[in-house]
Amino acid sequence: MNGPASLSTGLLHTGDGQFYKKFARYASVPETFPVFWSSVFAFDDVPSVDAIYEHEAEGYIYARMRNPNADAVSEILARADGGEDALVFSSGMSAITLSILSFVQAGDHIVSSPVLYGGVHDYLEKELKRFGVEVTFVDFLHGDIEKAIQPNTKLIYSETICNPLLEVPDIRATADVAHCHGLKFLIDNTFATPVVARPLELGADAVLYSATKYLGGHSDIIGGAAIGSRDIIDAIRPKLSLYGAILGPMDSWLLARSLRTLELRVIRHSENALKVARFLERHPKIEKVYYPGLESSPDHERAKAQFRGGLYGGMLSANLRGGEKEASAVISALKSIKYVPSLAGTATTLSYAAKTSHRFYPPEERERAGITMGQLRFSIGLENPDDIIAELDEALKAI
Ligand code: PLP
Repeated sequence: MNGPASLSTGLLHTGDGQFYKKFARYASVPETFPVFWSSVFAFDDVPSVDAIYEHEAEGYIYARMRNPNADAVSEILARADGGEDALVFSSGMSAITLSILSFVQAGDHIVSSPVLYGGVHDYLEKELKRFGVEVTFVDFLHGDIEKAIQPNTKLIYSETICNPLLEVPDIRATADVAHCHGLKFLIDNTFATPVVARPLELGADAVLYSATKYLGGHSDIIGGAAIGSRDIIDAIRPKLSLYGAILGPMDSWLLARSLRTLELRVIRHSENALKVARFLERHPKIEKVYYPGLESSPDHERAKAQFRGGLYGGMLSANLRGGEKEASAVISALKSIKYVPSLAGTATTLSYAAKTSHRFYPPEERERAGITMGQLRFSIGLENPDDIIAELDEALKAI
């Protein structure tokens, strides 16, 4: 055996990260960015660490603060959304909660749309209250956002396409109100993705994602992201490190891999969803379809003005003629379309908001928000759209 004589020393000091120092001199680089599966980085001397802390040299120290794979995928995300910088988180919830937390403290106030992913609604209404932050929920489509602003308001929060009713608020008008009052406007762009909408270009200060959904796109990772100007991201970064919510190297690598096909996937999701929405809209067993791509949708013109030509995303909701019994019958009659309490994988799935994401809303509040027991939310996949339609048509016979 060459090198250290003892087995344990050999095992410990052969094939370690020193290899990467040699790499800088090679005539080639890996075609795909490798996984840097290291929780910490090694230094030859004290000044090398000091230089990184003092921003005099580039480098990594500890992977919870920053790591090469999280940085690589952040660069792709910043580019996709037209931001200066980005961060990736261990979930959409950590991206959203820590981004909000970066701009409020006890005594502050937030104005938010009430139609939101249930977890975020809970965080705003219950969790933040424990820390002395109040939230006023305003209907962003019919209410007066400006009227809800108080002297202690610090930010406005919304989704680009609201979950689960697919409502589309006016992003530019909301951003204008926010900036007129010196507030930050944070928006969850999970349902739209940068393929359909780029809220930073419409004035939002930070775009937030559950990367678990379309950005990841294959139902195999949990992740989140925040994208914005350098100042905004620098304001959020300390919370990411402090709360220890960075996306790990392997999940960052998988997310980067998925992003290579994001545009292709979201275009196909959107085209298929429009076809399915048109089919469901004409179906006698369907009472109402929520999809901003339909000309009949009250959100259509607003969506058309803000979204990339002809694309409205892959999510749609439909009210069956009936309630829980009918919804259950349709779910059981479907074959390849599975009941999956998430969204945005490659295959078509459905979810039942009243029983999953909005399960813990008080029933009367849920009904007021338009989330009924006969409502199913579809995540339209990448299949041949005729097959999706044929399967839905067959399953609707169960009503
Ligand atoms: N935002 C939206 C619109 C969502 O649908 C979800 C989850 O379903 C989240 C945020 C939370 O993301 P995650 O589950 O990745 O924490």
